[in-house]
Formats: sequence, structure tokens, C-alpha cells
Amino acid sequence: MSNAIIKGVVFDLDNTLLDFMQMKEFAVKAAIKGMIEAGLQVNEEISYSEIISIYEKFGWENQQVFDVFIEKQIGYVEHKFLAAGIVAYRRAREANLMAYPNVHKTLMVLAKMGIKLAVVSDAPSREAWLRLYYLNLYHYFDVVITFDDSGERKPSPKPFKLCLDSLKIKPEEAVMVGDWPERDVVGAKQIGMKTAFARYGDTFGTINSDADWDLIDIFQLVMIINDFNGHI
Ligand SMILES: [Mg+2]
Repeated sequence: MSNAIIKGVVFDLDNTLLDFMQMKEFAVKAAIKGMIEAGLQVNEEISYSEIISIYEKFGWENQQVFDVFIEKQIGYVEHKFLAAGIVAYRRAREANLMAYPNVHKTLMVLAKMGIKLAVVSDAPSREAWLRLYYLNLYHYFDVVITFDDSGERKPSPKPFKLCLDSLKIKPEEAVMVGDWPERDVVGAKQIGMKTAFARYGDTFGTINSDADWDLIDIFQLVMIINDFNGHI
């Protein structure tokens, strides 16, 4: 790891700043309840695993998941069930989208320290910005790079480079923070960034993250950066 002073921190969004999987779980469960109340005759638990596997197959941002699910149950997309599911999903999503503990505090302290802050996310631009606004996080960031901005997903160097160019800092002056070792850590490392693994957001059961630092709490970043910059 290079000993250049740290001038910027780049965050992944989902499962790093906000608990995406928890939000998804609550929202999908609410949607199933909504569809059952509207008259769809299905088992709640089986439906939950079916919907999760549709997401796994078609992507977590897919907007047609409930269409696919309903069609699979009754052979066509009944709009009454679809509407019940979508409305329940959206209400639950809004109520359950949460930043991890200490996210606001960490961003505030880092900003006060003069550290530049950015987001590099593989999420579509519209969804990423909605989440940043729901959680009132948008104002902390100098730069937000989404899939729509770079056209390439991590670990491609493109989104990282785009972000660092906009921040006007060198890779070795930045720390990438993310929950997905193969994308966030590998991608950032290969262009020379420092890396911190968001272990508190890990959903893969990661044993060895290969990052320079493992975070149990996001606030550890403040100590890490103070310590690192103070010893140069
Ligand atoms: Mg992530």
C-alpha cells in the first residue's frame, strides 16, 4: 500500500452506506402480503423464495419481478394483484430503507476533516439518486458515479477512474469502501486505490476480504484516516 496522504473516500452505495438487503426483504414480504390480501392464493414463505430467485436471475433492480411472479402463479399478469404488490412494496421500501449506524456521523466528520467524498455504484442512476435522497445523504458527496455515467460495472477501472478524475485526486490518495470484495476491493486495488471492506454489510460470508482494512463499523474510517495521515 502506498503511503500517499489520504485526500478522498469513495463509497459503494448498496450494503455499504445503506442496508439494501434488509430493505429488499421487508419490501418483498410486504408485497406478498398485499397480493394475498388482494386475493392471490399463494403461500407466503414459498412466494418469498420464488421472488428472491427471480431477483437473483433477472437482477436486483429488475422492475418486472412481480409480473413474472404473478404470471407464474396464475398464467397471466392480473393487474389487481400487481398493483397491490407494487403499492405495498413501495410503502415498505420507504419505511425500511436505512443507512447503517454512524453513516451520517462518519460522513460529517470526514467532510469536516477536508476529505473529499464520493459514491461509485453499479446501481442505475435514478435508483441510486432516489436512495441518496430518501436517506438525506446526497449533500455529503462531491461526486456520484452510477452505472449510467460510466456504462461499466465494477471491477472495471472505468467508474473508479471517472470518479477520481472528477475529484481531481490520484488513486493512491483515495480509499475505496465497499461490501463486495470481487468488485469493490479488486476493482479499486487494480488502479492503485487503498481499500476498506465494509464487513458490517457483508452478505456473502466473506472470510478474507483482501482489503487494506476491514470495517466492523463505518466510523472506524475516521480513526484509520487520522492515524494514516498523521504518521506520514
Ligand atoms: Mg454493495
